Amino acid sequence: MGKWKVTVDRDTCIGDGICASLCPDVFEMDDEGKSVVIKPEIGDDLKDCVQEAVDSCPVSCITMEQIE
Ligand code: SF4
Repeated sequence: MGKWKVTVDRDTCIGDGICASLCPDVFEMDDEGKSVVIKPEIGDDLKDCVQEAVDSCPVSCITMEQIE
């Protein structure tokens, strides 16, 4: 068991929506067409899909940091 903190650098995000498609429980596209983290603290259940989003983001602007 663990907990991870998820962040998006919105200045770098190019708004292609990949993260929101891969992991809609954690990322959403907002009115500005950029990703917003709707669930900033995640557990084991969402870790794999966030990791996939981290690996798939073309501008590497998603971070996931273990906090517990
Ligand atoms: S995958 Fe990266 S660039 Fe694409 S919307 Fe998500 S945060 Fe933005």
